[in-house]
Amino acid sequence: MAAEEKLDAIVVGAGPAGCAAAYTMARAGLQVALIEKGSKAGAKNVMGGILYNHYLEQVVGEAWKEAPLERPIIEEQRWMMTEDAAIRLLGYKNLRNRERPHSFSVLRARFDEWFAAQAEAAGAFLIPETVVEELILRGGRVVGVRTGREGDLYADVVVVCEGIGLGSRLLERAGLKPRLKANQAAMAVKEVIALDPAVIESRFNCEPGEGASIECYGDATRGLSGFMFIYTNRETVSVGGGALLSELADTRLSREELAKRSPNAILNHFKGHPAIRPLLQGGETVEYLAKMIPEGGYRGIPKLYGNGYLVCGDAAGLSNPVHREGSNLAMESGRIAGEVVVHAKEQGDFSEAALRTYKLRLDRSWIMADMRKYDRAVPLLEHNPQMMGKYPKVLDRALDEFFRVDGESKWTKQSKALRIVRKEGGLRMLWDTGKALWTLARPLHR
Ligand SMILES: Cc1cc2nc3c(=O)[nH]c(=O)nc-3n(C[C@H](O)[C@H](O)[C@H](O)COP(=O)(O)OP(=O)(O)OC[C@H]3O[C@@H](n4cnc5c(N)ncnc54)[C@H](O)[C@@H]3O)c2cc1C
Repeated sequence: MAAEEKLDAIVVGAGPAGCAAAYTMARAGLQVALIEKGSKAGAKNVMGGILYNHYLEQVVGEAWKEAPLERPIIEEQRWMMTEDAAIRLLGYKNLRNRERPHSFSVLRARFDEWFAAQAEAAGAFLIPETVVEELILRGGRVVGVRTGREGDLYADVVVVCEGIGLGSRLLERAGLKPRLKANQAAMAVKEVIALDPAVIESRFNCEPGEGASIECYGDATRGLSGFMFIYTNRETVSVGGGALLSELADTRLSREELAKRSPNAILNHFKGHPAIRPLLQGGETVEYLAKMIPEGGYRGIPKLYGNGYLVCGDAAGLSNPVHREGSNLAMESGRIAGEVVVHAKEQGDFSEAALRTYKLRLDRSWIMADMRKYDRAVPLLEHNPQMMGKYPKVLDRALDEFFRVDGESKWTKQSKALRIVRKEGGLRMLWDTGKALWTLARPLHR
């Protein structure tokens, strides 16, 4: 491509947001370059991951059925852990998901490659192994990108889908986004562990080809704000999780304490838990990955549009860690951005005022409704460490008392269990639980 050639749009990053945006614009006949720094799309991308097919279908239609997805998720579990117990807070096996699946386990290396190929087939130029080094600004307007391999490329609009992390600082460097604070992102790690499919199915109580997800809190992350997960793939399981950066790197802690809460140490701690170890036994680690997750909530969302640019997905801070959703917010925001650019092209107007439609559409969508709803969820955990540390232990002790059959009457058991909750958790535990439920039920009005 000649350096001076001007495209309709440049998309930075071939993750779910970038592929959705590029696909949408290319299908409408726009000239689009999709630039990806990896040797191919997905080469280094990380996700737990559970992908929500509804949002993929919104972009590619029926073709979603050909996507390289792993297993439909039939059962979801949530565990609260202490050092030597696992309290199953929720176990939901929905057999209707066999006929009407809404989520699948996924390996991003395969999925992103497929998704980028769909964008290519729709007409986008995929440019892999190319780092966008900076956004080119002229007179307060983004007019193109400077790349390591292709030189300068120009377009009417640049859709920034760079994700977040140390290597994703284009917007920050251009002064279009403030630097992330340590309590606005989690650091997550993940291992892919190979296991025989029949072993996966028997350990996770799945029928052949079907999958399960387990998410664990409390001691799983050594009490930090975050969670650990196990997701079943076809021939592997994905094991990982993360916690807030501000807690992982708490400067008040000693070096030894910090080492214990490094993401890798937490992952090993989780894998060694007596309730988790048997699920992974005999497996061979075939991949290890680390990445950040935006957790700044609604108030952490940066400016999403300006003269000649739009921001989607993780780069836009769109993520819902409470429901482990991110890829769907990325695909949906990418699709909406693509549609807004198509309209801007029809009008021949790529000004900030024209691209504002993107923000207005997001504001009216489920994305911003959810971002507002969970805006206070992460600070709630951050400021109440007892919810992931002390309270699971109190609950564990009360349940131990309640379930132990040791010659005492059920009346005695019941009052002992209640006494434990009252004495060790106290009114504060009830207050905190009520406050948490109220916080999550009440949307942020802005
Ligand atoms: C451990 C973990 C588990 C997760 N689990 C789930 C889950 O189960 N379900 C879910 O929905 N979400 C999950 N998420 C979140 C999900 O991964 C993200 O929300 C989603 O990937 C965001 O998509 P994106 O396209 O915005 O960004 P990304 O997926 O990060 O893609 C950004 C792309 O841009 C490229 N790029 C970056 N900078 C440049 C540059 N300068 N030049 C060229 N290319 C560049 C990158 O290589 C990458 O391909 C998880 C995240 C993590 C880390």
